[in-house]
Amino acid sequence: LLARAGCRRNFSSSPSRQQSCMSAWVIDQYGTNGVLRYTEEISMPTINSPSDILIKVNAASLNPLDVSMRGGYGAKLMRLRRNPFTVTDSESEFPLILGRDVSGVVVDCGSEVTYFNPGDEVWAAVPPWKQGSLAEFVTLTEYEVSLKPKSLSHIEAASIPYVASTALSALGNAGGLCRDSSSNKRVLITGGSGGVGTFAIQLLKAWGAHVTVTCSQNAEGLVRGLGADEVVDYTAEDAAEQLETMEKFDVVLDNVGGESEESVMGLLKTWSGAKYVTLVSPLLLSTDSMGLLDGAVHAGFTLHSKAVQNILSGGIFYRWGFYAPDGPALDEVSRLVDAGKILPVVEAQFPFTQVPQAFQKLEQGHARGKTVVQVS
Ligand code: NDP
Repeated sequence: LLARAGCRRNFSSSPSRQQSCMSAWVIDQYGTNGVLRYTEEISMPTINSPSDILIKVNAASLNPLDVSMRGGYGAKLMRLRRNPFTVTDSESEFPLILGRDVSGVVVDCGSEVTYFNPGDEVWAAVPPWKQGSLAEFVTLTEYEVSLKPKSLSHIEAASIPYVASTALSALGNAGGLCRDSSSNKRVLITGGSGGVGTFAIQLLKAWGAHVTVTCSQNAEGLVRGLGADEVVDYTAEDAAEQLETMEKFDVVLDNVGGESEESVMGLLKTWSGAKYVTLVSPLLLSTDSMGLLDGAVHAGFTLHSKAVQNILSGGIFYRWGFYAPDGPALDEVSRLVDAGKILPVVEAQFPFTQVPQAFQKLEQGHARGKTVVQVS
């Protein structure tokens, strides 16, 4: 945010809207698609802190996390994150609004917001502990928001923030890569045809890395078009051999998890600071099934033992990657998009009336980029 300081005039406004209710898709309990309910009577979000921004949502997108959260995934940890002072199960999070990406227009700003003004077109990834973007309005802090790339429509822009924030956090914080350190690096992305993968390929190519991708055969054209240097069809009988004959990798970004973890670990360079980063960690599943404390301890133990095992056997750093909200990082993505180095990959688009159908699409799997919802 320091880089943003002084860019904009200091702005202070008081809410001018008289509207008290808005339309949204909510859930009142966890479950299958039937729990999604459209309403026009959900309270408008308000500016609760001086750094809050109220955004009118033009487009939202769905992520696998939305389907999981609809079913209750991460409920215990998210409840604690929403209100750290209540650790009991009695605090209700309902009605809960899902949707993690937003592209829209600023309608109101808290008194200490310095970088945004009403009327600004913005994009953001809504943290999962906040009310989501499948709604007419959403409130975020200015640290979570960024000016939308001018070259994209709202639909296109909504396809990027959550996967971009995740990929940046996983490749940067956990994988140790950045714009200036990637040109001589070999990176393997598993599950390269999905939301995170299609963004990560482009980011790494913009940073100058050599990128190898695993995906289904019918996704090869897509990932090559985004810049992948080498592609392995993971459904091919000789997929493992193909990967083993390649030069070893500096970083693996694993979007698949499960058996993928075992099979790719041996593909990393040994004793040279190589990193394995998986986005599929058991943290939230553990806290859901075992409770906050036991689940966190269990997950921490799992992470620690895998980290020790891998560092001792080959000097490989074993890490879990997580989404992290970061508006200024999205500013950088915005520049790459407007420079034509990163393209949106919108596979499917649904009107706001068809949010359940959008969830169904996501649940079918085999994503080729992102599923987006036009909200207004
Ligand atoms: P998507 O559903 O958009 O993409 C997954 C992709 O993986 C699909 O294209 C799928 O296509 C492909 N795939 C499935 N199985 C394999 C396999 N064995 N090898 C190679 N490719 C495969 O998911 P996202 O990209 O949005 O997210 C990826 C994972 O990361 C998800 O599990 C998600 O929950 C997790 N995630 C975690 C975050 C965190 O904070 N920890 C944040 C964001 C995502 P096909 O089946 O046709 O091959």
